[in-house]
Amino acid sequence: MIGHRCLKRCSTVVRSAQQLRFYPSEHTDYTPTAIFTTQTGYDVIHDPLMNKGTGFNRTEKDRLLLRGLLPPRSLDMKIQARRIMARYNTLTDDIDKYLFLVQLQDRNETLFYHVLASNIKDMAPIIYTPTVGKACQSFATIFQRARGMYFSAEDRGEMRAMVYNYPVEHVDVVVVTDGGRILGLGDLGANGMGIPIGKLSLYVAAGGINPGRVLPCMIDVGTNNENLLNDPFYLGINRKRITGDEYYEIVEEFMDAVTSRWPNVLIQFEDFTPDKAPKILDKYKNRFLTFNDDIQGTGSVIVSGVLNALRASNQSFSDLQNQRVVVAGAGAAGLGVVNAIANAMRKEGADDLTSLKNFYLCDKDGLITSARKVLTREQTPFAQVRDDMEEGLSLYETVKRVKPTILLGISGIGGLFKEETIREMSKHVDRPIIFPLSNPTSQSEATAEQIYTWTEGKAVFASGSPFAEVVLNGRTYPTSQGNNMFIFPGVGLGSIVAGSKRITSKMFHEASKALANSVPADRLQQGYIYPDVADIRSVTIEVAAAVALEAIEAGLADRSLRDQFHEENIDLKKYVAERMWEPNYKPIIYSKTK
Ligand code: NAD
Repeated sequence: MIGHRCLKRCSTVVRSAQQLRFYPSEHTDYTPTAIFTTQTGYDVIHDPLMNKGTGFNRTEKDRLLLRGLLPPRSLDMKIQARRIMARYNTLTDDIDKYLFLVQLQDRNETLFYHVLASNIKDMAPIIYTPTVGKACQSFATIFQRARGMYFSAEDRGEMRAMVYNYPVEHVDVVVVTDGGRILGLGDLGANGMGIPIGKLSLYVAAGGINPGRVLPCMIDVGTNNENLLNDPFYLGINRKRITGDEYYEIVEEFMDAVTSRWPNVLIQFEDFTPDKAPKILDKYKNRFLTFNDDIQGTGSVIVSGVLNALRASNQSFSDLQNQRVVVAGAGAAGLGVVNAIANAMRKEGADDLTSLKNFYLCDKDGLITSARKVLTREQTPFAQVRDDMEEGLSLYETVKRVKPTILLGISGIGGLFKEETIREMSKHVDRPIIFPLSNPTSQSEATAEQIYTWTEGKAVFASGSPFAEVVLNGRTYPTSQGNNMFIFPGVGLGSIVAGSKRITSKMFHEASKALANSVPADRLQQGYIYPDVADIRSVTIEVAAAVALEAIEAGLADRSLRDQFHEENIDLKKYVAERMWEPNYKPIIYSKTK
């Protein structure tokens, strides 16, 4: 297997499984085998983390004073799930499906996650993108029950005290947004809360994070969306967005408050505007356990796709440094992806100059070179080394001159890849790697069918939005979608179970390689460069184990795990898998003190 690292350290000392089951101090009840409660009766039924609905058995009904409060018959969880699916399958509107699942989550989280994990392929697009976007647009009208925490500009000076209102002693993951740029929908203010909620549902279903230990957060600094400001139902603070130093002071107070109560918590930033997201990440990535999925998660998943495209064309990961990459679109997303690939090139052996010179960036004004007058901070290093070509060459001319091995589209311009450009590229390479990454499908730079037709089936194809498989001359060509869900749950889980202090770019690189290697050879041979979403939990174990290993090797992991790994025979995949929360009912034990 290319690029595979041994996740098991061999040792002559063999310990019992019992001895291996330890947790970093903060994680003592990470995957509890029973739930202890001081509550009884309706308090149990109305707590979604404890409620089993019709699933309480007879002795539990006695212990928890539930006799008579529920129908007499107890149903097995599988039957409960069948009943849920029977109703779910009658729904035709995606928002109705979303609401149906939210209601289930609000009354019985274990059953919700059982249903979600078993149907992740169909339901991820409902609880997350694209349906969650529609849900955010109407968040104020469909709001039913509060979840997570809101920190608004009106709470300044109080946040350190406020965090204690959250009735959970241990929080492992916070996902936070300021609602500034929700998916492709722009500023949705406090309505953006649907995003952290949905993302954390994926963390639990795909990453095995304990749902009792996650916290969705909104930093409400106002909104510039006039429709929301004029909406009588809008639930956020009714003012224009706070900007400048005051904005960053509010973010700082939020970070301070959350980490003062939960020092080891992972904080994931989500859907901040491109002018703020890199600044916030740079400020906190070396202080706290934190990352930005839009920047690092997206980059990592595309790097993984590129690595597997190399495997599919009989090259190794280290051949990444020899690729010529033409990129159409040099905005926030484009440069995020380009930097992730350039970083991966360096990790695979390229020197700094080569890792910059391998990229040919084109924007709406054509090829960007050292002659370009106005450049963004991110474009500058790539432009400075491009003094060997004419400024402003068209995409077609650039492809003709460069003869790229990889062509990325991240421009937001539907249909940008024209037939003559793709045919020109295809003339010079055996397996042209072509990724039109713009979302939604209507904005994709080309369709899967066009790419396979114009390259006569030679392309290695992946896209940002979903495409159906393509049939050409009786042969079926697969399509692959780069989905961040393959990366972020594993990065989160791996860093948490390792008790890592930070999340580094090397961890993302290892995550990319682990994801690439998780695609079985036969699937790769068929032309798929990403795994099946249905296999997400096993993919997450691979990614998490690679991240945990990197945390250990970088000296960032919990000391006891580091010592144990170096001295004993730990299989990190097993170690990670044992710590994943499973959506099964646990016995509930009544006790006078917790
Ligand atoms: P942006 O507005 O910051 O950047 C767009 C870039 O495209 C600019 O550099 C612009 O000059 C360039 N462009 C416009 N017309 C062009 C043309 N005719 N030829 C070449 N370049 C042209 O936008 P963004 O935030 O960078 O997002 C761009 C796209 O990337 C969006 O469609 C978004 O959905 C997509 N995206 C995809 C992923 C993914 O993982 N697939 C992740 C994030 C964003």
